[in-house]
Amino acid sequence: MKKNMSFVLMALFAIVFAACSKSADSPTTPPQSDNAAKVREYILKLGFPENQIVEHPTEFMVEGDISFPKNMKVPEGNLKSEQYYTGSTVTNVTNIRLKVDASLSGLSSEINSAIAQWNAIPNCSVNWVLTPTGPYDVLMTNANLGNGVCGAGTFPTNGVVGNLIRINAAYIAGNNFAQRARTICHELGHNISLRHTNWAAAGENPPGIDVPGVPGTDASSLMNAGQCGIGATVLSAKDILAAQSLYP
Ligand SMILES: [Zn+2]
Repeated sequence: MKKNMSFVLMALFAIVFAACSKSADSPTTPPQSDNAAKVREYILKLGFPENQIVEHPTEFMVEGDISFPKNMKVPEGNLKSEQYYTGSTVTNVTNIRLKVDASLSGLSSEINSAIAQWNAIPNCSVNWVLTPTGPYDVLMTNANLGNGVCGAGTFPTNGVVGNLIRINAAYIAGNNFAQRARTICHELGHNISLRHTNWAAAGENPPGIDVPGVPGTDASSLMNAGQCGIGATVLSAKDILAAQSLYP
């Protein structure tokens, strides 16, 4: 989510132009970069345009708050984009174990509130379960994502829930409780494959694909982009329908 999209986009373009001047496919690419090149190819195959891919030392970012780690396992075989959702739905787990890093202990009430919203959806097979110790599916941690980026989620790949959520705790500290919880609730949605509901207005590519039975835009959607600090704080009726449609 972004507070100031134009500023962020300008910064992104500057970085992308710099990144474009070197070939990711060069045979001289050192071995440790091989997987990063595969990840970049995968992002392109998903349909995201080159100029929306922002390279960071350990990851690529698209649409402001979606992370593709350079060391991720790239799915093999044919890709299909599936709401405004993308990649694949989560099929490896129904009770998603979420470990919250101690760096976010100050936001535990907001995290509980965000989880409670997803878990309150009736007839939805996916739920979030806090796992203080032991194995987990998703790690949520504090991270300085820079000015304007409130949080970052990770899409599922090959049916496996996105494994990382980062929250820019210092940046959202000035927001009220409901808006801090919104940021967390929004990123949880990305990790179960939801795209930005307002992808078209936000100029995002590839086009979002309607969640079956839940087409169109929704001003009340908590999954709208670019609304950190000002957006919906409650999952909308259509957000709930989308979750029920994807995870019956
Ligand atoms: Zn987002």
